[in-house]
Amino acid sequence: MTVRTRIAPSPTGDPHVGTAYVALFNYCFAKVNGGQFVLRIEDTDQARSTRESEDAILAALRWVGLEWDEGPDVGGPHGPYRQSERSALYREHAQILIDRGHAFRCFCTAERLAEVRKAQIAAKATPRYDGRCLGLDPDEVARRVAAGETHVVRMKIPSEGTCVVRDRLRDPIHIDYAQVDMQVLVKSDGLPTYHLANVVDDHHMGITHVMRGEEWISSAPKHLLLYGYFGWDAPELCHLPLLRNPDKSKLSKRKNPTSILYYQRMGFLPEALLNYLGRMAWSMPDESEKFDLTQMLEHFDLDRISLGGPVFDVDKLTWLNGRYIREDLDDDAFVDRVVQWQLNREALAALIPLVRPRISKWSDLVDVAGFFLQGMPTITPDDLAHKRLEPAEVQRVLVWTQWQLEALPAWQAEGVEAALRGAAGLLEMKLRDSLAPLFVAISGQKSSTPLFDTIAILGRDLSLARLRHAVEVLGGVSKKQLGRYKKAYDQARRAQAAEAQS
Ligand code: GLU
Repeated sequence: MTVRTRIAPSPTGDPHVGTAYVALFNYCFAKVNGGQFVLRIEDTDQARSTRESEDAILAALRWVGLEWDEGPDVGGPHGPYRQSERSALYREHAQILIDRGHAFRCFCTAERLAEVRKAQIAAKATPRYDGRCLGLDPDEVARRVAAGETHVVRMKIPSEGTCVVRDRLRDPIHIDYAQVDMQVLVKSDGLPTYHLANVVDDHHMGITHVMRGEEWISSAPKHLLLYGYFGWDAPELCHLPLLRNPDKSKLSKRKNPTSILYYQRMGFLPEALLNYLGRMAWSMPDESEKFDLTQMLEHFDLDRISLGGPVFDVDKLTWLNGRYIREDLDDDAFVDRVVQWQLNREALAALIPLVRPRISKWSDLVDVAGFFLQGMPTITPDDLAHKRLEPAEVQRVLVWTQWQLEALPAWQAEGVEAALRGAAGLLEMKLRDSLAPLFVAISGQKSSTPLFDTIAILGRDLSLARLRHAVEVLGGVSKKQLGRYKKAYDQARRAQAAEAQS
């Protein structure tokens, strides 16, 4: 048997360090077994998937040093490797399940499902589909389908019994079917959900080992049932422990930057990041902290994976990165890498229109544009003080602006401008007032190059990280306070939307 593993990212956001971590383990396992590593794009969520995100994920995985044998950009014998291009296959397979009596069409409305759910929660029962459409008469189903009635396809779940999930890294996990929902396999728009597409593709792409994050364990019974319904052998499952924040909570961008682009822009070396990800849940036999991919492959062994939640600690990564810079780069390589980072033509060219009107000699450049090269600007609460706003108000500006910017699908000056103007409207402040703390948070100075363009050039990750940093400089916000901000922000948005409509 040829070992075949895969990474199957959904292109719905920035390339996540967790994706590179899972990809690394899949890559190593395939390579040490002389097998193949596949990259598949899971873009069944059409509303949230973008080609921009897909491109960024591919580029980020390549940047850290991973290559795939098959994928949407390199092709291969099992393509296409983008789920949006495989719809016919899923439709065909949904029909097979219906014909064999393993799935059924469900006509329940969203309102009815919401009521059922509410009643179940009130009765302290596990919220799940109650099976109303399970026993519909086939003629009635045919009539309603022919009449074009909106419906989904759901999988059947055994009414009793337990699913035993066998995982390479764990003792057998027992999950009662009573806990498993009659999962929607095909949505009302005719597109598959993750579960159907994932199982069909893993089978058709010859995937032998599914290594993914442990948040998917609860989906395993559905997947195992589907393999059984189709009469296929299931791949071996191996759920990797989730990356955690230093406080042990699930790694989240609220507490830690999670985008690979952030680490790239901050000037981390890809080999150091990959090395660090290799230390998440895994260790070298001699416990050495610094190793490259070749060394990792020499010693890779699933038995060395430990399940205790691996902590992604930016301070430790920084320390390791420093070692790479000091120990591995000779002077030439050092220069090359700094140039590659931000001192290249392309990066500098983007700054010229912003800095040209503000300098009269080259040495002014550092004062005017130095902050583009910085990580977090050095700022104090005094720097953020505002003539007309209390510190709590300044904090609210920073937090609401973050939310406005986070919601931007594309990162361009026009979008940034619209988001910041929108924020001022929501905050019911003059634009001048709401922008003042942002200048300081972003550039470390009260005035700087034009803010919208500056934020566009700095990029999503670094800009948001600087806003978060400024909030921390002002003492941070508690979870409770954040909840209050969110409520007020949502309320203001609703009011704004209602006004726009009237
Ligand atoms: N598309 C899923 C994700 O992005 C893949 C999960 C899996 O590996 O099955 O997390």
